[in-house]
Amino acid sequence: MASAEKPVPAITPEMAGFFEGAKRGQLMVERCEGCGEMRFPPHELCSRCLSDRAKWVPTSGRGEVFSFNVMHQVYHPGFAAEVPYAVVVVRLEEGPKFVSNLIGVQPADIRIGMPVEVTFERLSADVTVPKFRPRSRS
Ligand SMILES: [Zn+2]
Repeated sequence: MASAEKPVPAITPEMAGFFEGAKRGQLMVERCEGCGEMRFPPHELCSRCLSDRAKWVPTSGRGEVFSFNVMHQVYHPGFAAEVPYAVVVVRLEEGPKFVSNLIGVQPADIRIGMPVEVTFERLSADVTVPKFRPRSRS
């Protein structure tokens, strides 16, 4: 039986640096060139210093589960084989938060504060997306 395709994110100009990093295996965030604040998603202006200058920089890819929920409903047929799956908010060591999937752990075992690290899933020749997996605390 043919399975439905998952939706693939569109690479907008403001997100190009993020997806270029993901293809290299780097989780990127924007760093304000005015005050150094790290942020994600990208913004035209820094909310701290109002600078309009920023550039993409790689992060450690390490963080912890800030919040999560477990999806039991099939909202898109491309995900039918994966329910139940976890959607998490990860707070990186550098500060920014990402909404992503947490893989490699049963949903019932996910805890707030669980240490995680990035891993990448290649969806197409152009699009690689970050996901997270548990890591040992060290
Ligand atoms: Zn700033």
